[in-house]
This record gives sequence, C-alpha cells and structure tokens, in this order.
Amino acid sequence: MQPHTVIDVKKTGRFEDEEALFSPFGSASREELAQQRLFVNADLEALEGLLHACPVRDVKSGEILLSPGQSNQNLYLLLSGCLRVHVDSVKNEPVCILDVGESVGELSAIDRKPAPAFVVADVDSRALVVDQDIFWALINASHAVACNMLQILSDRLRMSNAVISKNRRLQQLYRRHAVTDQLTGLHNRRWLENMLSRQLKRSSINNKALSLVMIDIDAFKQFNNRFGHLAGDYALHALAQTLRDSVRPTDMLARFGGGKFMVILPDTDIERAELVAERIRRNVAEATIMMSDESLLPPLTVSLGIAEMKSSDNYETLVSMTDAALCRAKEKGRNCVSV
Ligand code: GH3
Ligand code: MG
Repeated sequence: MQPHTVIDVKKTGRFEDEEALFSPFGSASREELAQQRLFVNADLEALEGLLHACPVRDVKSGEILLSPGQSNQNLYLLLSGCLRVHVDSVKNEPVCILDVGESVGELSAIDRKPAPAFVVADVDSRALVVDQDIFWALINASHAVACNMLQILSDRLRMSNAVISKNRRLQQLYRRHAVTDQLTGLHNRRWLENMLSRQLKRSSINNKALSLVMIDIDAFKQFNNRFGHLAGDYALHALAQTLRDSVRPTDMLARFGGGKFMVILPDTDIERAELVAERIRRNVAEATIMMSDESLLPPLTVSLGIAEMKSSDNYETLVSMTDAALCRAKEKGRNCVSV
C-alpha cells in the first residue's frame, strides 16, 4: 500500500492542502470524493482509512498522464479539471473527454497491463491516485464500489464499440472518396482502371463481348472562357446526370479527367455500342444546363470514340483504341461518334 501522504502546508501554502491535513479522507475533500461515480451509494466514512492513503496528483494543462505502453497500476479519479483520451496520437481527435467524477486507468488497475491510450489534461486538473492494492481493497470493502466499477467498465466497453463502428464507417467513406470524383459523383479514373481490367478478364474468360466508349466535351475551353469556370463545373455535373440517364444500370460510368468520360459496356458488341454512343451524343446535345439561379446555358456537344475488346486486349490497348477513335471523331468535325 502507498504510505499516507504528508503535506507540507508551509511549503505549498495551499488552502486545500491545509484543509486536507484535517480531512479524514487525506488529500481529497469529502465533497470531491462524493462526486465520484465510483462512490455512488457508497458509505464513504467506512472507506476513510483506505482513501486517506491515496495521494492527489496535479496534472498541468497539456501534460500527459498516461501514454500507450506505459506501465501503470493506478486508477485515477478526476477531482477537478478535464482529461482527454486519444488513441494512437495526441494529435488525433479525442475519443472521449473525462469530466470531474469520472475515472481513468481501470483496466491497468485490474490487469496490470500497460495503458492502451493517451490521457492528457485538457486544463489544469487534479486526480486522486488509487493504487492497485487500494483499488482491490475498495472493491472488497464496498458492494456499491464493486457495482459502480462494473457499470464504469460496461460504459467503457460500449464506448469502445461505438469508436470501432465509427472508424469502420469512416474507412468506408474514405474508400468511397478514393474512387469517386467529387464534382460529378461518378467513379474516377483510378476506379475505371481497376474495374476495366477486371471486366476485360471476366469477358475474356466467359467469351463475352465488351465495348468501351470514350466521351469528350467539344470546345470546353471556349465554354469556360465564355460562361466562366463555375458554369463549366455546372455543365460537368449536368453532363454526368445525362450520361447516367443514357446507359443501362449494368453499364459502368467514370470521369476519366477534365472533360473526358468513359463508359464500360459489358456484353455489348461494337454495333450495339455504336447505338448507345449515338444515344448519348443526342441526349447531351439536347440537354440544357441550369445554373443555381435557374438561368439556362446552351447545351454542350460531345465527341465519342468506341472500340470493342479483342481477346488479346488489356486496359492500355483498349483505352488507346478508343482514344484514337475519339481523335477521328474530333477530326470529322466533333459532335459525332467514331468507331
Ligand atoms: P476539344 O473540342 O478539342 O475537346 O476542345 P476542348 O476545349 O474541349 O479541349 P480539351 O478537351 O483539351 O479541354 C479540356 C478543358 O476542360 C480544359 C479545361 O478548361 C476544362 N476543364 C477540365 N476540367 C475542368 C473542371 O473540373 N471544371 C471546369 N469548369 N473545366 C474543366
Ligand atoms: Mg474537350
């Protein structure tokens, strides 16, 4: 057990220490202890002897009380101030904030294993240090303390579960962002590379046709210069919607970059791909673009290049074939489809 804390009033000159000299509870006052979750419904007077032996630790704002891997066998009861708990790095958002009456270090006090997270003082704080022997003595001495500790631990478990599911949701979000184009909401080029390679293999194994369409906005630089870059962004957004409306749910759309888009058409030979491309061209040429103030911009036109996969094709060869077809469509005068 810890020896009783001896407080030198002359040295510290602190009123509360002076008070503590006469407190039957040692360094903490009865009021401070009564606020603790651990002591709800507990007979504090019956625990006087044990609590008297617990020192108080001052933790300055920003000071680290516990860090992962650090050996710790103490439970800390927060008497004043506020503590933050951070996982992995103190620079990460805190996973929880502990207020007066709450505790930290329960797990280490129970299993003697190192602390799992950083605990940092958010402001100047005071914590009652309950060492492992006193912790178990309190549990043995008071049924209320034991029940409160179970309650505290079950809250910790629920909080950990909530952190895990929040992290899982974030992971999904980041994964989605990594393959999504922010402006149009379509898949991006990275996704296309991956998906097209997989679809090529699949079609080749199943001996199925697959066609690729490359779409590029005509004279988009001029459009930006005439109506402004923001109008250009609206146009890209509107075009993405027209493309979505022009293909089957099984076709796969992506923004390739700038004013260029791609559609993967599984189970589609070049004749049917030409019909799809022509439908896209017509729909785009007929779609007016509405700005946020409801003013209308003239429709854009697009040029399209299409190619059908041969069994020897890979991502690069098929994309370069559609690119060559697209160049021919531009040369033919734009707003047309080239095979
Ligand atoms: P062409 O008919 O030969 O395709 O002429 P173009 O002017 O469309 O030429 P190109 O396709 O090379 O130009 C792409 C232009 O698209 C360049 C840039 O002004 C515009 N652009 C690219 N990304 C964005 C974007 O995110 N927002 C806006 N507003 N414009 C973009
Ligand atoms: Mg263009």
